[in-house]
Amino acid sequence: MPIVVQKYGGSSVADVDKLQRVAEKVVASKRAGNDVVVVVSAMGKTTDQLLALAHQVDSSPPRRELDMLVSTGERVSMALLSMAIQKHGVDAISFTGSQSGIITNDRHFDARIIEVRPHRIEDELARGKVVIIAGFQGMSYKREITTLGRGGSDTTALAMAAALGAEHAEIYSDVDGVYSADPRKVEGARHLPELTYDEMQAMAEAGAKVLHAQAVEAAREARIRIHARSTFATTGRETVVRGDAGAAAGAVVGLDRLAQVRVPGADPGALLGFLQSASVRPIQLVADPSEVRFEVATGAVPDWSGVRDALEGTHGAEVADGLGAATYVGREAAAKGAEVLAAVAELGIRPRRVKVEALSAGVVVDGDRLDEVVQALHDRLVGPV
Ligand code: ADP
Ligand code: ASP
Ligand code: MG
Repeated sequence: MPIVVQKYGGSSVADVDKLQRVAEKVVASKRAGNDVVVVVSAMGKTTDQLLALAHQVDSSPPRRELDMLVSTGERVSMALLSMAIQKHGVDAISFTGSQSGIITNDRHFDARIIEVRPHRIEDELARGKVVIIAGFQGMSYKREITTLGRGGSDTTALAMAAALGAEHAEIYSDVDGVYSADPRKVEGARHLPELTYDEMQAMAEAGAKVLHAQAVEAAREARIRIHARSTFATTGRETVVRGDAGAAAGAVVGLDRLAQVRVPGADPGALLGFLQSASVRPIQLVADPSEVRFEVATGAVPDWSGVRDALEGTHGAEVADGLGAATYVGREAAAKGAEVLAAVAELGIRPRRVKVEALSAGVVVDGDRLDEVVQALHDRLVGPV
C-alpha cells in the first residue's frame, strides 16, 4: 500500500472540533487504501503559552527543561487525534518523537535530526494501524528529549517520509500553499503553484515560516515532493515543492526580531565557542582582525536576554536589537540588488546591511519599518497579479 505522510499544524488542531475534522480527513485517506502516518503540532498557541509559563519562572530558562516542557504540547494533540480516529472504528496509535526513532544531536531547543529508525512505525503500519507522531521532538543520542526549533513539525514529517520511503509529504496549515509574500501581511501576494527546493529553502532561511528550512533540506536530499495545502479551505489550490519546478514569480520575505552584534577585538575562536555552547546560530558571521560581526534571529533564542547579557558583559559586544530583514528571493536575485536598494531609498531608509546572493537580495532595517519595506519590495519586484 502507498505510504502517505500528512502533517497538521497548530491551527489545524486548535480545538476539539478541528481535531475531529482532521480525524475525518485521516480516516478518509486510510479508507482510500493508503498506509497513513500523521505528524501533529501542538494545539493552537500551546507552545507559545508553555514558553510564556517558563519565562514567568526564569527569564533565561535552562534549555533542557524547556525541551521537557514544550515537547508536552505535541503529546496532547497526538493522543487526542488518535482517540478521535479510533472513534471512527479505525485502529490508530500515537508515538512520541523518541518512540518514533527520531534521533537528534544534543542541541536543546534547536536540535538537528541525525537519524530516523522507524521500526515501530513500520510494525504498526503492517498491523493496519494509522500512526500518529508528535512533531517537533526527538531524542538525542544521550537519550535526552530534544526539540527541533520553532516550526519543526514540518521537519519531523519530511524526515519520517524519507525514512519510510514515501514519495511525497502533505503539509496542511491555514494557507493553501506558499505565496509570493505572507498573504496575511502583504497586499497583492500571489499564490505560487510550484517552487524548486532551492527557492523554498532560500525563502525559509530568510524567515518565511510557512515551511521549516530543515524540512525543505530533508525533502531535497531524499527527492520527496512537498505538497503544501490548506486543511479546511476548499480552494483546491496547493504549492508543490520539487526539484524540477518551472520558473516562479519571485517572493519577498520579512524576518522580525533580528539583532546585529559587533564584538571589537574579539577572539573569533572563543566567541564561536561561546555561541556554540549557548546554542545560538549566528547568521552572516564575519571575522576580521579588528572585530567579529554577526546577526542573530532572536525569536529563535528562548533565553536571548541571558545570551545578550553575556555577550555585552563578558565579551564586550555592542548589540543592536529590534531590527528586521527584508529579502527578495528569486532566480534573478543577483541582478536585482540595485532595485532592492532603490525601493528602500524611496522610503527614505538607509539599510543597516545589504546582502546579494544567487537566489536572494536583502536588507536589514529598523524593525518598525520592516512591514513597509517588505510591501515596497513586493510592489516593485514581484508586482500585482
Ligand atoms: P502551521 O502552524 O500549520 O505549521 P504556520 O503558522 O507555521 O502554520 O505557517 C502558516 C503561516 O505562514 C500562514 O498563516 C502565513 O501567515 C505564514 N506565511 C509567511 N510567509 C508565507 C508565504 N510566503 N506564503 C504563505 N504563508 C506564509
Ligand atoms: N509546536 C511547535 C511550534 O509552535 C512546532 C510546530 O508548530 O511545528 O513551534
Ligand atoms: Mg509551521
